[in-house]
Amino acid sequence: MHPSDGEASKQFNSVHPHFSAESRNMRLGLCTDEFNPFGSFAAPYSCWPIILTVYNLPPGMCMRLEFMFLSMVISPSSPGWNIDVCLRPLIDELTQLWSFGALTYDISRKQNFVMRATLMWNINDFPAYEMVYGWSTHGKLACPYCMKNNKAFTLTNGGKASFFYCHCRFLPLNHRYRKNRKDFFIGRVEKDIAPPRLSGEELLDVVSEYGDIMFGLLLGKQKFPGFGLTHN
Ligand SMILES: [Zn+2]
Repeated sequence: MHPSDGEASKQFNSVHPHFSAESRNMRLGLCTDEFNPFGSFAAPYSCWPIILTVYNLPPGMCMRLEFMFLSMVISPSSPGWNIDVCLRPLIDELTQLWSFGALTYDISRKQNFVMRATLMWNINDFPAYEMVYGWSTHGKLACPYCMKNNKAFTLTNGGKASFFYCHCRFLPLNHRYRKNRKDFFIGRVEKDIAPPRLSGEELLDVVSEYGDIMFGLLLGKQKFPGFGLTHN
C-alpha cells in the first residue's frame, strides 16, 4: 500500500483540489534522526541529517537513495529545542513552495510549469518526536495520541511512568484482549473507548493557549502553564 491510498492523502486531495489537479506538484516527507559518523561512543560528533523524500513516486522508488534529498545536516551535537531555529530556512522554503511554487522545467514534456509542494508527513523515532514536534516524550503525558486523557501510571518500585495495558481501549469493543484478565492487568477488563481524536483546528486552539513561544535554547527554559499536567 502506498501512502497516497491512505486517509490523510484523500482528505488532503478533497481540501486542496487545485493542488491535487497538478500531478507534478510535490508531496514530501521530512525524515530525521540522530546519526553518529564515528560510532556511538563519539557523542560530541553526533549530527542530525534532515532528509526530504518524494511521495509522488511509486512505492518501490520513493524510499530509494537517489530520490532522497539531504536538505541540511545539523551539527555537531543534538540540537534539542534549537531544532526550530535550524529548520527555519527549510520551513521558509517549503512555505514559499506551498504558497507560490517555483518555476520548474519538466524534461519529459519539455515545458516549464509552476511546481508547488506540500509537506505531507514526518518520519522520526519517538525521542526525536520531542524535538521535531515540541511534545515531550517523557513522563505520564508522553503519549502524543492520548495526551491528557492518558491512562499511564507510576511503577511502585521503579518510580517510572508505565503505559502497560494503557492502549487496549483502542481495540474494537469485542476484541478478546479487552477481556483477557490473565495476561495484562490481573482481573481487569477494559471497557473504555479510545480518547477523542482532535482535529487540526482543535489542536491549534489548544496550542494557542500557551502564549508566545520563543524559539531557541539561548532564550532559556520557558514555562508553560499546565506543563506535565494537561500537556507535555
Ligand atoms: Zn496513548
